[in-house]
Amino acid sequence: MLDKLTDAFDCVDDAQYAERINACQQCPALIASHTCRYCGCIVQVRAKLTERDCPHPDGSMWAARV
Ligand code: SF4
Repeated sequence: MLDKLTDAFDCVDDAQYAERINACQQCPALIASHTCRYCGCIVQVRAKLTERDCPHPDGSMWAARV
């Protein structure tokens, strides 16, 4: 599925994707290892998309780790 995203959308590189997913894995807002409680997104998909950011109300948890 992620390969199809790369074909259709502007996606981050593997290193940035890994940073984003790592942040999600340490975040208490992550439900069942895949869903963000703030946006309802599957983070494994959201993290791949360049135009998306972490929706945490205190500020992006992704940006803090870049
Ligand atoms: S708030 Fe941000 S870091 Fe936390 S699960 Fe959602 S997208 Fe990931």
